[in-house]
Amino acid sequence: MTASIVISGFGPAGAATALALYRAGLTASDIAIVDPLSAQDAASKGPDSRILALNAGSRRLLEMLDIWPLLAPHAHPMRSIAISDTGLDEIVRPSSLGFETETDDQPLAHLVPLGLLQSALRDAARAAGIPLIAEHVLGFSPQPDAISLRCSRNQYRPSLLVAADGARSAIRRMAGIPFHGWAYGQTAITAIVEHSAPHHGEAVQHFLPSGPFALLPLDENRSSMVWSERTDIAKRMLELSVPALIEEVVRRAAGWRGEIKGIGQVSSHPLSLGIARRFFADRVALVADAAHVVHPLAGQGLNLGFADAATLAELVVEHVRLGLDPGDPTLLETYQARRRPPAVAMAGLTEGLNRLFSNDFGPVRLVRDIGLGLVNRSDRLRSLLRKQAAGRDTGEPKLFRGEAI
Ligand SMILES: Cc1cc2nc3c(=O)[nH]c(=O)nc-3n(C[C@H](O)[C@H](O)[C@H](O)COP(=O)(O)OP(=O)(O)OC[C@H]3O[C@@H](n4cnc5c(N)ncnc54)[C@H](O)[C@@H]3O)c2cc1C
Repeated sequence: MTASIVISGFGPAGAATALALYRAGLTASDIAIVDPLSAQDAASKGPDSRILALNAGSRRLLEMLDIWPLLAPHAHPMRSIAISDTGLDEIVRPSSLGFETETDDQPLAHLVPLGLLQSALRDAARAAGIPLIAEHVLGFSPQPDAISLRCSRNQYRPSLLVAADGARSAIRRMAGIPFHGWAYGQTAITAIVEHSAPHHGEAVQHFLPSGPFALLPLDENRSSMVWSERTDIAKRMLELSVPALIEEVVRRAAGWRGEIKGIGQVSSHPLSLGIARRFFADRVALVADAAHVVHPLAGQGLNLGFADAATLAELVVEHVRLGLDPGDPTLLETYQARRRPPAVAMAGLTEGLNRLFSNDFGPVRLVRDIGLGLVNRSDRLRSLLRKQAAGRDTGEPKLFRGEAI
């Protein structure tokens, strides 16, 4: 195999990187994906009921990759967000901040099941004929003209190795890149909940002292719950019977969607923060969770990851078209300069919000109540927050703007 770009990891970020390169004119044999995709690993992780909020940039990328038409029938628009800040035992949760989309055809985000997104991307990469190598990467050593990659059965010699192998990236570790961060001591409990009152496209996020509790709109009487909870409490919640778990959900939702009528398959996700000190090493680029992991309270993890994939593909394609080396250090430095600052900013924002709100200390509550009141009254700030939520930021890659690379 003579691929010049090897991508380690066939999750959504790895598959999107491969497809972006392929759709821009690299041949299937220029690209390869290494992922052991072990059934045992997948089973040990348990079920995954995550439904992701994808911003307009991610949607445009998926349109450019011809994936969006497959997702659109199952994607639910989120048109507004209401935010409350209360204690768990308060009976009502009045909204202290809210913002909504400016135009009806541009929702703040679309909610898409992660399983569906992943299989659509994987099927498209397979259909394109991009080789999938079901092996483990054991090690690599960069050379002046290539990188020698040792996998469990074979050796490869691409020009660039892309690490899209997730939060516990083996490639990042082997490259010796430090990953700064910490565990939040919170676990996200996710499930689809059915309720009696329609949501009209509104997401609600209740900031509670032990973590944010969100209901994100699916079809009119169903929402995707992302309930971040202190890990010791979450463990107890996960052991409850379904009726007892629904009672706990009712306590947190506090009547926002009427009666909670049912709960679907539950999955749990320990939460942590992490940012790679560098987004590249010699002939290695890190993308998505391999480079950064952020709290899900803003629904931005994979949106950042897709922007990484789109940026890296754009730079690689520009280099290849000029006959230059895609493992060139200046390319990798440009990639880092474009992608690390927004990831650090989002990590800081989500970390700050989680710290500020997961707190019942009186003076801290007073300060944030004043802050929320100010944001609510400032049109400029609200427009900025709206833009952030919708992914309409400056410096986005071409595919995020709907332009071919
Ligand atoms: C509760 C929760 C809610 C979230 N909500 C949102 C949201 O609303 N919006 C949003 O944008 N993001 C959200 N996220 C973040 C999002 O889920 C992740 O950013 C995204 O799934 C990461 O994708 P990835 O491709 O980087 O990694 P992964 O999906 O982890 O894929 C990694 C791949 O690498 C493979 N792999 C692992 N080790 C190796 C190895 N040694 N060699 C080769 N391959 C390997 C794995 O088999 C896997 O296929 C949320 C996260 C959580 C926990």
